[in-house]
Amino acid sequence: MAVFRLNIVLSLAALSIAFALEHVQTNQTRLGPDDSPDESLRYDSYRYRCDQPHALDPSADGLLSSQDLFTGSDAIDILVKRHQPLVQIPSICYDDLGDFDDDERWEPFHKVPKVLKETYPIIHNIATIETIHKFGLVYTISGSDEGLDPILLTAHQDVVPVEEETLDRWEYPPFDAHYNPKDGFLWGRGASDDKSRITALMSAMEALLSQKDYQPRRSVIFAFGFDEECSGYRGAGEIAKHLEKQYGEGGIAVILDEGGAGLQTLGDTLYALPAVYEKGYLDVWFDIDVIGGHSSVPSPHTAIGMMSEIVTELESSPFEPKIMWNSPVHQGLICLARYSPYAIPDLTNIIYHGDLDAAAHYLSHASPNTQYLIQTSQAVDWIAGGDKINCLPEFVTLGVNHRIAPQDSIGSVQYRVVKLTEHVVRKYSLQLRAFEGDDDYRRYLAAEGISSEDDKAHHQWKPTYNGTLTLRSGKKSRVTPQTPTSGPIWDIFAGTVRHTFAREASRVIAAPGAMTANTDSRHYLSLSDHIYRWSPGSLASFGNIHTINERVQLGELSNMAKFYYDFIRNFDQADI
Ligand SMILES: [Zn+2]
Repeated sequence: MAVFRLNIVLSLAALSIAFALEHVQTNQTRLGPDDSPDESLRYDSYRYRCDQPHALDPSADGLLSSQDLFTGSDAIDILVKRHQPLVQIPSICYDDLGDFDDDERWEPFHKVPKVLKETYPIIHNIATIETIHKFGLVYTISGSDEGLDPILLTAHQDVVPVEEETLDRWEYPPFDAHYNPKDGFLWGRGASDDKSRITALMSAMEALLSQKDYQPRRSVIFAFGFDEECSGYRGAGEIAKHLEKQYGEGGIAVILDEGGAGLQTLGDTLYALPAVYEKGYLDVWFDIDVIGGHSSVPSPHTAIGMMSEIVTELESSPFEPKIMWNSPVHQGLICLARYSPYAIPDLTNIIYHGDLDAAAHYLSHASPNTQYLIQTSQAVDWIAGGDKINCLPEFVTLGVNHRIAPQDSIGSVQYRVVKLTEHVVRKYSLQLRAFEGDDDYRRYLAAEGISSEDDKAHHQWKPTYNGTLTLRSGKKSRVTPQTPTSGPIWDIFAGTVRHTFAREASRVIAAPGAMTANTDSRHYLSLSDHIYRWSPGSLASFGNIHTINERVQLGELSNMAKFYYDFIRNFDQADI
């Protein structure tokens, strides 16, 4: 997924339950029998209780069971042989990739459809296969009932680069796809993120189509983008337009993409932690333009000094953490309190009392992962200015990256930036040009009844600096809508999880969460209200994505195939 060399816990989890896993051993406090939270939680005061649907067994269709198909050494050997040639393709997404025809670094992507064709011959006989925008791959297995909306399962073909300097720290070369039967790991860049899902999805479908009893009623679509690690505009972005033309807005019943915090065990409970929304995104660029001069007779402050003051203002005013009532994070905490009440007794009590301010305080001080799940982040990532040691700089640029939590918006973040620069604008009599022509900013001011003339109140022209501060937005995306965490579609998703993984723990709980990073699913928002970002694996397989020694555990890869196999069948039987 599109985060930079952070492991999955840092990039995704940030969930209270993941937090509980980290901290459960250090917290020995026990609640007394009289205040057992299981009994005393005042669930009637919540709309959400984290009730779990029944495990959903798809066996009524008469097909082989996922356990029979994907368990055992023969099944593992087949998965290894399918996965290896895919992982051996260095389909790397570089941020500066040029046009398809001009940049030879696209070359490896030509191999992906060829390998898939050789590996999955039955799918290639039966499915309709479309190539979208050069390398996007869409496989459609048509159902017999056109009244049923299709389901869309997505993955991405591209991987992040391997840094040359890290090569000697890899146990096995990153594109050898070496399998070690002793520990059950297949090693390589992309072995986990995200080619594991291509292999699992294709294996599930190959198994379905090889049985004559599989006569799908509902169409199944696989869409494999090719630049997710570079924001996904050329791949998933174009695939989404193609699918929207074909099926219309909201024409897909459910979308399953990578993400979430996977499967995590806490005591005797296995938690499945899908992300039901993604935080928003905003880059803000600050330009200060002033009169230059010779540094032997400097002004008291230079543009670099002014910009430094802005940085200090920003960093001394972090955003507020907040958990909104009945939000997915609140719901995830309710699940944790209900099913693992002794994991973090303090937090259980806070949730019991419905004190979300205290819960927010708790999470924001626990770890950066939990903090930024509930708080908009700001990171001063980029600065440039000054050309020559004896010249006063005339131009300085600053770039600040934000990931927006649901309580904030693009407009509110922009307005906050304007307010925080006010002091510097006044102090140096700068002309302020704030987000000119930016619709998000304009709409926010209108909604809040703020006159945009306020921004222009400080044009006191002083010859000392004769400066301008310009604020503009770079890349941006809104916080995504939240997928419902109840109702028939959630019940099929959660019921399938509870069926497929029933053997893995005495209790399986599906609990909602969020993502601090973005996936290809951001391009598919118009196609469905139901998007689950969830890779059915644990940290064993997802702990090293985007870093050295990426690997996938074959037992987990087979579990992924089992889940997709059951998920497709359960949706085929559902009349929704
Ligand atoms: Zn990914």
